[in-house]
Amino acid sequence: MGTTNPRSKDGPGHEVLLGKYELGRILGRGTFAKVYHARALTDGTGVAIKVLDKPELLDSGMAPRILREVSAMRRLSHPNVVRLHEVMATKSKIYLVMEHALGGELFSRIWRRGRLPEPAARRYFQQLVSALRFCHARGVSHRDVKPQNLLLDRDGNLKVSDFGLSALPEHLKDGLLHTACGTPAYTAPEVVRRKGYDGAKADAWSCGVILFVLLAGFLPFDDANLALMYRKIHKREYEFPPWFPPTAKRVVHRLLDPNPETRLTIDGVMELPWFKRSLSVDSHLSLMDSDQTTTTTTSMMIRTSSMNAFDIISLSKGLDLSGMFMFNGGRIREQRFTSKESVEKVSERIREAGMKLGYVFEKRKECIVGLGKSGSVLTVEVSELAPPLLLVEVKEESSVTDGEEEDIVVMWEELKSELEDIVFAWHNSNLDDT
Ligand code: ADP
Ligand code: MG
Repeated sequence: MGTTNPRSKDGPGHEVLLGKYELGRILGRGTFAKVYHARALTDGTGVAIKVLDKPELLDSGMAPRILREVSAMRRLSHPNVVRLHEVMATKSKIYLVMEHALGGELFSRIWRRGRLPEPAARRYFQQLVSALRFCHARGVSHRDVKPQNLLLDRDGNLKVSDFGLSALPEHLKDGLLHTACGTPAYTAPEVVRRKGYDGAKADAWSCGVILFVLLAGFLPFDDANLALMYRKIHKREYEFPPWFPPTAKRVVHRLLDPNPETRLTIDGVMELPWFKRSLSVDSHLSLMDSDQTTTTTTSMMIRTSSMNAFDIISLSKGLDLSGMFMFNGGRIREQRFTSKESVEKVSERIREAGMKLGYVFEKRKECIVGLGKSGSVLTVEVSELAPPLLLVEVKEESSVTDGEEEDIVVMWEELKSELEDIVFAWHNSNLDDT
């Protein structure tokens, strides 16, 4: 996943994205996305933008993955975790605007220049462990810790990226994860076996593989024959090269324990004298920090009023995107909610509620109803989301003067209480900032 020249065919030229970012060269390709360098038009800041195709995502059922990624990244603010600045969407694409890790992938360095001396390897390992411990403490395990996801910043600090496969607490089933994912050479045996597994313990395994690669310069388990490779993984069959530092062998050995129950944990690693040696003040601080999370400001822009992938994303209560939607200004206000009732029931209840509030009902299209009274029109659009969920968007347009603003607020409050029984969750409220 190397970088390409800015003028290569791969690059989209100098396209300006939603009037905010100028897209530059391609930084890398993942399984489901392309990542581009970009510049903010306002202040020239360099960022990395991950571009995902929406129709593709929706077809392939990728929406939950994106949801997890956004949700996981937004929760995490740590010096060794790639920061998510902003999420944007158009009709056909989703853009994740991230911190640009200027140093590229850590491992392209290893493959180019070979293994690292012990102090350098330890430093990256300390940063990786620190990032993972921080994430685990927040109920997020990465589950795809592998070289392509370990990036470097300008100062050579490690940045863990790609939380696409990470599992959030709400995705835990019986406290154990059930999706087999990750990349074979780095994947813990219990994950491969598709038994339920503990994401934090699986991450500890991957750390063992990473530490091995950093110091050896090659993979501990590597075989073109996957069956053979898995057999080796289960039997802990790997060999240290002669140059491998003896004290680090023990750390790798305890992390590459096929039994997750007896495997060294991330917390356990941090207690080892080998790990604690030459821990910089900075990393000490980031290791200590477990509660001082600063929240990232994530803004969200909706360009189309019809349903898009962000409506799906905003379904996640964990995300709490309320108040982050931006509208065209003016007097259009919009409220959305999801419902588990049928389209008929929802339409019926909205009609009743509207009439109670003095609106006149008018059916416009199959899924759109209008409710009008002097000075105010409500347009209600119902769309099917992931069944049985419906997305209901209520737009209010009015010609009221400032003095009458309050009436609108009251109207929303009344509408909300009228519809209480059919609402699964409200998904945005721009009342507060009008
Ligand atoms: P996927 O989830 O589809 O695997 P990734 O998020 O891993 O996609 O991104 C693909 C590649 O793009 C990475 O391996 C890396 O080379 C590059 N990349 C991703 N994010 C950044 C970033 N923030 N800064 C620099 N390069 C990045
Ligand atoms: Mg990736």
